[in-house]
Amino acid sequence: MSARETHKTAGFVLRSLQYGESDLIVTFYTREFGKIKGIAKGAKRSRKRFANVFEPFSLTQIIFSRRNRDSLAFIDACDILDHFAAIRMDLEKTLTASYFIDLAEHFSPEGKRNDGVFALLLDFLPLLTRENVSEPIIRFFEMRLLKAAGFEPELAACVRCKTPVANGSPYYFFPKEGGIFCTACARPQRYDQSISAGAVRTLLLGKDMDLEKMKMISMTESLASESRSILCGFISYVLGREVQSLKVLEQVRRYCP
Ligand SMILES: [Zn+2]
Repeated sequence: MSARETHKTAGFVLRSLQYGESDLIVTFYTREFGKIKGIAKGAKRSRKRFANVFEPFSLTQIIFSRRNRDSLAFIDACDILDHFAAIRMDLEKTLTASYFIDLAEHFSPEGKRNDGVFALLLDFLPLLTRENVSEPIIRFFEMRLLKAAGFEPELAACVRCKTPVANGSPYYFFPKEGGIFCTACARPQRYDQSISAGAVRTLLLGKDMDLEKMKMISMTESLASESRSILCGFISYVLGREVQSLKVLEQVRRYCP
């Protein structure tokens, strides 16, 4: 029997599930190991060892041990680095943070380190504590996550003829092609999804924009709705399903402005 190796890393709590009487199975997104799953023995009982640390999107410092990369981790200790209290006091912020965490989970294969995804959570969760939830914040997170996960949609030029985006006629987004077609290449059918050059440019801008400048961006209702349907449609296409936490977030944003 090989000995267990012990590791220490920072990680965001993605979710936790009760296991048996007193244990929890917790999924983390860690800096060094990507997504990992671990068991916190006695977590339900031992409030001293694990006081409220396993709440979704908390940033924690974890000490865990495991036999090898494929075996379940044993969480030996877990301390809160940031509980994001300012997010938890606000329903819309909480749902947005949950959506971000969900996306990070859905786009991350287990055990694969991705510094880009970790850095994104490290940027956007503190941002949510300071700023109100806005369409640009949600959409730009989606753009950046897609990029970090290797699914960046091609928006700078027509996928087929490679002509860079210019103002004027609309573009058409095809999830299957991973990007936009110009009107000439698209030969749009009735139900194809058009996107204005303005929406395309805004999404491109948000992809790498400095976080502090994001609050200066505003989206008109039509720009917001185009961007939402393109990105959310693409995300569902890539994942092969809808993201439930987005639905909840959208409902709350619609009915509780
Ligand atoms: Zn074209």
